[in-house]
Amino acid sequence: MKIAILPGDGIGTEIMAEAVKVLKALNLPLEMETALVGGAAYEAHGHPLPESTLNLAKSADAVLFGAVGDWKYDKLERHLRPEQAILGLRKHMGLFANFRPAICYEQLVGASSLKPELIAGLDILIIRELTGDIYFGTPRGRRTATDGLFPGTEEAFDTMRYSRPEIERIAHVAFQAARKRNKKVTSVDKNNVLETSQLWKDVMVEIGQQYPDVELEHMLVDNAAMQLVKAPKKFDVLVTGNMFGDILSDEASMLTGSIGMLPSASLNSKNQGLYEPSHGSAPDIAGKGIANPLATILSAAMMLRFSLNQEAAAQRIEAAVQTVLQQGLRTADIYSEGTTKVSTSQMGDAVVKALAA
Ligand code: NAD
Repeated sequence: MKIAILPGDGIGTEIMAEAVKVLKALNLPLEMETALVGGAAYEAHGHPLPESTLNLAKSADAVLFGAVGDWKYDKLERHLRPEQAILGLRKHMGLFANFRPAICYEQLVGASSLKPELIAGLDILIIRELTGDIYFGTPRGRRTATDGLFPGTEEAFDTMRYSRPEIERIAHVAFQAARKRNKKVTSVDKNNVLETSQLWKDVMVEIGQQYPDVELEHMLVDNAAMQLVKAPKKFDVLVTGNMFGDILSDEASMLTGSIGMLPSASLNSKNQGLYEPSHGSAPDIAGKGIANPLATILSAAMMLRFSLNQEAAAQRIEAAVQTVLQQGLRTADIYSEGTTKVSTSQMGDAVVKALAA
């Protein structure tokens, strides 16, 4: 089982070191090869996703990704910015389905900004379409308009587009995931305004007929944003397009207390996947040894489950994470009075110790 390890920038290298430590402790026949990506790759090779890194990712059974980006690259041309590496990997590997579970651990109920009764026992799965929509639509650009809304001034445009096959395949992913859970899919769009959303809704209804055992509801994105903070537990699987999913999955992740706890998986049709924490490179805390490595460690568990067919090992990691939380160990982002504050590496060591036990 070959894994491409892409730590990236900022806290990416710190959290990845802990996930690799945990993977090694499993004693599985895993071949891990590391490569540069993002700002680190730009510094060394002049490009955020060098050919060698892309080839390694494509040849591996799975990719474990840290995070990329730093404000210092904001002035670079867009195609050279670190974040382009993720878009490139998604596109070249055909990673169209992004799984973002938002699970509230019993021990962290108090870390959420919502009332405990609203989030205790929360377990929802956001499925975001990842290779279509406004992030990949053409045309896009910026120009000085001669006949625009305000003649003589600049205008910029990005095109939102979806095709039927793109919606069909993500619909199947959502209904199949719901079958393994509580059999409810909420499809989120903006069909009262957008044509893309009307096509999205029509296709969801059609595909839904093939899954009569799964309940399908539709919700407008503005209402979904509201319902996620009002009554998040009424969702089971929430499926939506690329841009709405980007925003709603971050909102959902914060329900659980810290973005440092949440893993994610992006899969293609061959179940080859890229696994990464839901957060970014956190330049504000990079190098301080205080980042929470659990989202990356839990992403490694998802990788073992979805791409490497190692369910037992995935469950061992998840149980070990529960154990360290039960022991009261907390990185700064989830720390509260009465618990023990630990560093990034101490948290990784504790998970390894819990695995051995
Ligand atoms: P961010 O997720 O990096 O950080 C948001 C806040 O959460 C920060 O206060 C940070 O300290 C905190 N945080 C994030 N991860 C944490 C962890 N594991 N433990 C403790 N605290 C954590 O988002 P941002 O600040 O908006 O973006 C920073 C950079 O990351 C930007 O360059 C952005 O483009 C990039 N980014 C990359 C990815 C990715 O690599 N997939 C995703 C989002 C943002």
